[in-house]
Amino acid sequence: MHDDRSLVEARLKRVLAERIRPALYPESVPLTVSIWTAPGEPVPVAEGLAAPRSAIAVGDAWGAPWGTSWITVEGTVPAAWAGRTVEALIDLGFDANMPGFQCEGLVYRPDGTPVKGLNPQNQWVRIAAPAVGGERVLLHVEAASNPVILDYHPFLPTELGDQETAGDRPQYRLERMDLAVLDETVWELVMDLEVLGELMAELPEDGARRWEVLRAVERALDRIDLQDVNGTAAAARSELEQVLAAPAVPSAHRISAIGHAHIDSAWLWPLRETVRKVARTTANMTALLEDEPNFLYTMSQAQQFAWIKEHRPEVYARVKKAVAEGRFVPAGGMWVESDTNMPSSEAMARQFVHGKRFFLEEFGVENQEAWLPDTFGFTGGLPQIIRNAGSKWLLTQKISWSQINKFPHHTFLWEGIDGTRIFTHFPPVDTYNCSMKGSEIAHAARNFKDKGVARHSLAPTGWGDGGGGTTREMVAKAARLRDLEGSATVRWERPAEFFAKAEAEYPKPPVWVGELYLELHRATLTSQARTKQGNRRSENLLREAELWCATAALRTGHPYPYEALDRIWKTVLLHQFHDILPGSSIAWVHREAEATYAALAAELEELIGAAQRALAGDPAGGRELVFNGAPHGRSAVPAGGAAVPGGGPGGCTVTARAGGGFVLADGLLRVVVDGDGLVASVLELASGREAVAPGTRANLLQLHPDFPNMWDAWDVDQFYRNTVTDLTGADEVAVCTEGPEEVAVRVSRSFGSSTVVQTLTLRAGSGRLDIDTEVDWHETEKFLKAAFPLDLHTERYAAETQFGHQFRPTHTNTSWEAAKFEACNHRFVHLAEPGWGVALVTPSTYGHDVTRTVRAADGGTTTTVRFSLLRAPRFPDPRTDQGVHRFRHALVPGAEIGDAVREGYAIGLPERRVTGSAESVRPLVESDHGAIVVSAAKLADDGSGDLVVRVYEAGGGRVRGRLATSFPLAAVVPCDLLERPWDGTRGEVAADGDGVRLGLRPFELVTLRLTPSSAPSA
Ligand SMILES: [Zn+2]
Repeated sequence: MHDDRSLVEARLKRVLAERIRPALYPESVPLTVSIWTAPGEPVPVAEGLAAPRSAIAVGDAWGAPWGTSWITVEGTVPAAWAGRTVEALIDLGFDANMPGFQCEGLVYRPDGTPVKGLNPQNQWVRIAAPAVGGERVLLHVEAASNPVILDYHPFLPTELGDQETAGDRPQYRLERMDLAVLDETVWELVMDLEVLGELMAELPEDGARRWEVLRAVERALDRIDLQDVNGTAAAARSELEQVLAAPAVPSAHRISAIGHAHIDSAWLWPLRETVRKVARTTANMTALLEDEPNFLYTMSQAQQFAWIKEHRPEVYARVKKAVAEGRFVPAGGMWVESDTNMPSSEAMARQFVHGKRFFLEEFGVENQEAWLPDTFGFTGGLPQIIRNAGSKWLLTQKISWSQINKFPHHTFLWEGIDGTRIFTHFPPVDTYNCSMKGSEIAHAARNFKDKGVARHSLAPTGWGDGGGGTTREMVAKAARLRDLEGSATVRWERPAEFFAKAEAEYPKPPVWVGELYLELHRATLTSQARTKQGNRRSENLLREAELWCATAALRTGHPYPYEALDRIWKTVLLHQFHDILPGSSIAWVHREAEATYAALAAELEELIGAAQRALAGDPAGGRELVFNGAPHGRSAVPAGGAAVPGGGPGGCTVTARAGGGFVLADGLLRVVVDGDGLVASVLELASGREAVAPGTRANLLQLHPDFPNMWDAWDVDQFYRNTVTDLTGADEVAVCTEGPEEVAVRVSRSFGSSTVVQTLTLRAGSGRLDIDTEVDWHETEKFLKAAFPLDLHTERYAAETQFGHQFRPTHTNTSWEAAKFEACNHRFVHLAEPGWGVALVTPSTYGHDVTRTVRAADGGTTTTVRFSLLRAPRFPDPRTDQGVHRFRHALVPGAEIGDAVREGYAIGLPERRVTGSAESVRPLVESDHGAIVVSAAKLADDGSGDLVVRVYEAGGGRVRGRLATSFPLAAVVPCDLLERPWDGTRGEVAADGDGVRLGLRPFELVTLRLTPSSAPSA
């Protein structure tokens, strides 16, 4: 037979586009349209419904950037349409080439009840089926004219990303506003032909199935009268019945589809718009659940449920009903889909505490999966946190975005730094916006790495971010793909159903050990430095607030601020969302984030101050107490306590150096700052070891051009390193502090349009060189690094992560290692040869890189750590990071890992001085082992007055120790993160008088509920 395949395929494409789809709505009449534009920010629904309208016509412009318009459509169903399916078609001016990221609407009835959302690929509103002739139609649309930030001109700087700079030029023109008759037979024919056409394109050309489908499609096209599509659609469909009825082969891949809309909690729109995006999409999805009995929908992020509850109670009532029916499924168990690289140990734990608690309290639902489809990499600390939250599965697809290496598994056990293993699935469909296209279904089946031993994968299905979620077309396609020869099978299934099946069919999955590093978006560790510092500051202040408020409550009866801490935690958790903390949102989001962090800091300082004043007693007592909020004692003040310390050790000196510069010494270190203001030497006197590599200088600021190929705020591309400018010229190098307690040198530089002032300080007895940096940054598309070339030979280094540290190589032997050219640290990186090491600690910087060179002169190895201070991308915020920034870093020579842990905490938790009458404040709990670290001490969330203490093993070794309490102890109960009794703790936990004996595995995390037997004595 002659091969006419491409002819038939081209025919299908044209007839579908130009004849069949246009016949979907064979009759229509225009609606009357009127509009009211809210003068500023969105208004309550009642106000929008009541506002006076003025006339507007199809073709007219509407919608300033970020504006809200209330659009009313009115009409009458023609008498001749009685008995037919009638819909309103409301096109706000959508660009259907983009599923979301533009204008959107939420349709209301006159009484204020929501109907459904309007989105670029979801523009219909069902009026009646069957219709009654003469019926009046009156609907109101709350329309948001959100500007397009990304799609038209990807990554070009735009002023549209902030209300303050976006201007008022209308963004859209009203398109079709009609009442129309939907021909459901034509609609079904479109679905048949799309499914078969897309399937056909994926089938092998030498297989019979492809040709059977082709011939059936040809016969269907033959049956269509192009002048009477509506009259012949049923006949065309009859030609397709047989090929659509052929069942899938027994070995077909099995896809668990779940309706979904990935809605970023802020990104190319502000937080307030996400509240409405969620409401629109959720209204769409509860409506679709009512229309489609087999459909299931899942939504993650407790915060988004909380927003609907607060701001759109009428939508929330429908959500609660659908959740109770088991069809609207809360997914995951986190407050938001957060970044996981940067949040602190406690914050990562609290994401689960607040997410899970919300789902439990609102719906009685506790999920076993962590749902993070879009997060930019996963730390080795996360598996243990997931387990301690009472969960056991993880879903993400993001690692498929890696630039270099293809991950070897789709279903596997992921092992964290402590040995916890989590059953993990990466959907091989490689998207969280599956639309049930044949190419996606075929890709999932072909791409699945675990074929032969497993056959299930998950497909989150629906448009996110203003796309409105799953469409009725996707549901129709899924129905045809349920059991179809040549395709993977598709079933609507809840995430838990999928995981249970996947786990059961795959008893010995492969194991991946350590972090899941995303080989992309590496610059999200640095962009929007003020947002990142706001997060760090808030995490530290929350630690202190909980510690001192709990201490004051148990010691003095000071009221514990449950409500404030709960609210502040949730705000901090929200801002850890995977486009806020990573710095990849528009200017508006980061402007608001900085203001929010400032307000939180002020409130937390108040809470801390009030608690410490309650503990210190009458200020007339005149004693200056030093409070130590860090988990290790310092300056004779115990961890978590307060004391009046004696005089400091003193002995600091600074002397001018021949040839320029200064020598600083404190009895522990001798530091040479040269005439350029660079650190030429850091000698640890006890060991006689030099930290700075010969022939190099430390604290060298380096400036790189930084213009990635795409994703400006997200990405730094490897080639940035090819060009570098060392900032060695100093405007001034001068002594700025000179006393026995402290000596410091100030170094001023200018470069480009920017200036930097650094203060290098030795404090008596500290054993570390502190470097405070203030940059007035006015560069464009540059990357600023601070380099520390160290005289250390090591294959690997440690970087702190949640509840421990993870090792990374210092070399680039493999493509996997080479791809990690920018990585995350929490408070420290630590590098060591046997017996001697160096820690670099910081409360302000997350990004770093580590490289190695071998010196020609002496054959020694120089290992260089560089902290990533600032970038200056221009998309999506055209003025990212302009202005003044302050950073703190410190070099700790002679540090073991325990010293790195201790100094990392200490640098972010400065001592506080309060005048009172007390002689001291005893800590509530005290660890007798440096590696048993208290990461949080707080009162139990249930208001019982119990003390909850979270401890972990911080050194990476097995330890035994004791946690002493300074109050009579009635009971000790190991708990999960939600403070529920938990028998999952594998370490030894035993009551031991007024204390707890602990035996912990490397990096083991334990939460303890300590019940005081009576009011403790001071
Ligand atoms: Zn996202």
